[in-house]
Amino acid sequence: MKRVLLLLPVASYRNEDFLEAARCLDVEVTTVADYCPQLAPGWGLDPMLAVPFDQPAVALTTVLQHLQHKPDAVLAVDDHGLELAALLREQLGLAGNPNAAVMLTRDKLVFRQLLRNHGFNAPGFRHLPHDADLEKWSKEIAYPAVVKARRLSSSRGVVRVNTPQEFMAAVNWVRQIQGRADRESQELGLVVEDFISGQEYALEGLLSDGKLSVLALFDKPDPLDGPYFEETIYVTPSRLPDAMQQEIADTVQRACELAGLNSGPVHAEMRVNQQGVWMLEVAARSIGGLCGRVLRHALGMSLEEVVLRHTLGLPVPQVQAHGGAGVMMIPVPKRGIYQGVSGMEVARRVPGITDIQIALEPGTRILPVPEGASYLGFIFSQAGSPLEAEQALRVAHSLLGFDIQTEMEVMPVQ
Ligand code: ADP
Repeated sequence: MKRVLLLLPVASYRNEDFLEAARCLDVEVTTVADYCPQLAPGWGLDPMLAVPFDQPAVALTTVLQHLQHKPDAVLAVDDHGLELAALLREQLGLAGNPNAAVMLTRDKLVFRQLLRNHGFNAPGFRHLPHDADLEKWSKEIAYPAVVKARRLSSSRGVVRVNTPQEFMAAVNWVRQIQGRADRESQELGLVVEDFISGQEYALEGLLSDGKLSVLALFDKPDPLDGPYFEETIYVTPSRLPDAMQQEIADTVQRACELAGLNSGPVHAEMRVNQQGVWMLEVAARSIGGLCGRVLRHALGMSLEEVVLRHTLGLPVPQVQAHGGAGVMMIPVPKRGIYQGVSGMEVARRVPGITDIQIALEPGTRILPVPEGASYLGFIFSQAGSPLEAEQALRVAHSLLGFDIQTEMEVMPVQ
């Protein structure tokens, strides 16, 4: 029986889907979570090891001390465990992406430098150190610009600015966001780059011996012009001409080679305008949230099973796209306390809608981007064409009503 070590971030939407995939494949699973061993009984697993994924060197030692059998593969379910997974593979002599490549793609500044130095389309960008003179900077940069945290994901800590005043406010805000989420925030500083206009796309693929095979190219039909960049609709197959789809795939392939990624899942985001393809990011993982479920029909199994199979060297299916499929990450419209949702029954009956998942318990505190990184839930569609799949998502979303209570100010006790 094959044995896999899964790294499960507590906050991941995908833990259940990966565990289910492992059950389907009859694979023996060892699990490591970040900081939260009490989750294990709830998942029906033996108590698992809890380590800080954001301190990979510390976590590595602990995992190696406790590991009873060498696994055949180590897989991070989500962004957070990627570095630890790479270090573990290196120590255990398992094939996979080198840690240097994973670290490079997780750092938006280093990734930008790499692309610019190798002739990719790259916006003007600068590293904004922690002690920068913001007044001076605000007069120097070209507007519109984008202020970014270095290593966060899901558009957290990404803000477009159009004026010097907006720039200074955004820098202070993004510093706070990064400071709460990344323990090396001060040393990292931020990135400031030119705003790239254009339409956005996302590519889902698998790397085998460095060669990319595309599982899906998604259109992101909603305009993403800022000031914040919440993810919403992804629709596949893409409606771009074949030649442009090929150009995107070739660009992702080249970026992976340059970064040193050679195996496993790849999720890449890019913008396309008259100058061609502009890579925003390449990540050594599959698509986040529950979005992978949109590909179940085309893959004939879950994306998590495909990723697990690929990691273990088992055969993976050919993609067979029929019609169009879409997913909407339901954005958090405002900060507050989520109380509930109405209209589910009627939204579920919209032709083309295959599922709606609300990802929150009533009483959960929610924050929109750029501070938060979670969604209210996910709507899935499958229809005769990409356009119909997209329209079904919009109709279903319009029928849902979210009750979000305003957070009360906490008053000091007199
Ligand atoms: P994350 O990894 O958090 O998703 P990204 O750097 O990919 O961070 O940025 C998130 C989103 O912000 C992108 O999907 C895109 O819509 C927008 N964005 C980021 N950088 C730029 C840019 N230079 N120009 C235009 N839009 C951008």
